[in-house]
Amino acid sequence: MSNLEREKKPESATPPAGDSVSKTHFIREIIDEDMKTGKFGGRVQTRFPPEPNGYLHIGHAKSICLNFGLALDYGGKCNLRFDDTNPTKEEQEYVDSIIEDVRWLGFSWDDRLFYASDYFDQLYAWAVQLIKAGKAYVDHLSADQIREYRGTLTQPGKESPYRNRSVEENLALIEQMRSGDFPDGACVLRAKIDMASGNVNMRDPVLYRILHTEHHRTGDKWCIYPMYDFAHGQSDSIEGVTHSICTLEFADHRPLYDWFIQTLGIYAPQQIEFARLNLTYTVLSKRKLIKLVQDKHVNGWDDPRMPTISGLRRRGFTPEAIRAFCDLIGVAKSPSTVDIQMLEYCVRQDLNKRAPRVMAVLKPIKVVITNYPEDQVEELDAINNPEDANAGTRKVPFSRVLYIEQDDFMENPPNKFYRLSPGREVRLRYAYFIKCEEVIKDADGNIIELRCTYDPSTRGGDAPDGRKVKATIHWVSAADALKAEVRIYDHLFTTVNPNDDDEGRDFTELINPKSLEILPSAYVEPSLANATPGSRYQFERVGYFSVDPDSTDGKPVFNRTVTLKDEWAKIQKQG
Ligand code: ATP
Ligand code: MG
Repeated sequence: MSNLEREKKPESATPPAGDSVSKTHFIREIIDEDMKTGKFGGRVQTRFPPEPNGYLHIGHAKSICLNFGLALDYGGKCNLRFDDTNPTKEEQEYVDSIIEDVRWLGFSWDDRLFYASDYFDQLYAWAVQLIKAGKAYVDHLSADQIREYRGTLTQPGKESPYRNRSVEENLALIEQMRSGDFPDGACVLRAKIDMASGNVNMRDPVLYRILHTEHHRTGDKWCIYPMYDFAHGQSDSIEGVTHSICTLEFADHRPLYDWFIQTLGIYAPQQIEFARLNLTYTVLSKRKLIKLVQDKHVNGWDDPRMPTISGLRRRGFTPEAIRAFCDLIGVAKSPSTVDIQMLEYCVRQDLNKRAPRVMAVLKPIKVVITNYPEDQVEELDAINNPEDANAGTRKVPFSRVLYIEQDDFMENPPNKFYRLSPGREVRLRYAYFIKCEEVIKDADGNIIELRCTYDPSTRGGDAPDGRKVKATIHWVSAADALKAEVRIYDHLFTTVNPNDDDEGRDFTELINPKSLEILPSAYVEPSLANATPGSRYQFERVGYFSVDPDSTDGKPVFNRTVTLKDEWAKIQKQG
């Protein structure tokens, strides 16, 4: 079954569980098998473990949908846990945004909101346990020396001269580290495993470093912090996680996590790695996203060009569209890059069902209907959503002076242009046939106005004499329309794979200078006067748009979510 066929199956808007029920993948197969053998006593406990050092992006959505989706499907539970072990990079702002975004995506962790920092006491106790077992030591080598001693993929490492300190000495030193006797970087606690291991992660990894930095949750209680690798697996163990799902780069860390669990003799979760999401024309590395924000290449984390959840939300994406996307891309063991048009396809499909249709003119040109009475206004019936029989109709005012789209007129049309041109008749959507009689220009030869006539017998339908027009165009009534700002977005990068290149050029050099086009003088129909930020519309013939929070009472601002043209569906048909 092709992706397209699958997408055509009817979807329920809620609950999220429904999105992925039908779809199997290798992780489901593992869980099915575990359920059969009773490995975890029939339990499924997953978690989503973000580090609060940035906003969530569409790659995280894949992990969220997977972890929460599996829990829902197997009647299990999924925790939200912040892996907050690095106070120099973590902030409450990020915690808050992550909570908001996971919730907005439609998932619930009930009362299971956890923090690795909740486990700092336990983790410290385990560090002491390792020291007592002769499996950890305090090392005074500098960071550079540790790196040097570590060896390479082909060369074994070298043992630190501090490696064989006595247990007593190590216990005294870790206590001194903890009570703040040493400055940052003076020493670290390392596991004593195997400096000659083929797996570099097993060459006496650092467990604790000294950081005299306040933590956003524990304040100044600690001046030593566990490394991510020492915290992650044990946090999973504490929470009774059954299937600890993570991305491929952690496969090489698995033997280390297993070593901690076995050496400490605690409950063992099962780690399963899957391929992270990559998207064309997009960066998903947090380091790069932070740089885009900090260096002001974009207007903050929720800039509608950002691949963040908050950016996509502001752009007009729905949670349903993002969940459908995560379902469509599936879960695999080998890395691949997904075409961004697939994401656009998903939001288009969803908005097609739910977005009310309205008329808006982005680049206006004035039309005067010379045979229409000066002060007459008619209220014409317009359909709110042809995809939704319950959406009803609304009234749209029609009058003598209108705006139409500049693109819908050509003075000297080529062969296949069927819209308005001198002497030609077209239909105005929901209104009348009009014919262009005269083109008015300013002194410089720019077209400033079209003079047209209308045929009163064609109101809301066809001509009684059976004559045809080849195009229907949209319009707004000049006196009634609302002036609006419209923001048109293009890919943030000019290349499919926007990475730093081999010549040392930064990925920011690949930013698309035309990724944002502002149209300050658009007009929208008056029914949008009270549109609230976040609401979404289809501008007929133009695209899907959402109301931006920058809107003011007098002037709404719209973001183009996506065009109407479905490139992805086209590619699927050809393929
Ligand atoms: P960093 O490299 O800074 O650690 P990260 O992207 O791994 O960034 P985390 O906050 O650690 O960020 O991610 C939380 C979870 O989301 C992890 O389990 C991670 O594997 C998963 N995740 C992150 N990026 C992607 C992605 N592109 N596709 C799928 N899952 C992802
Ligand atoms: Mg990470």
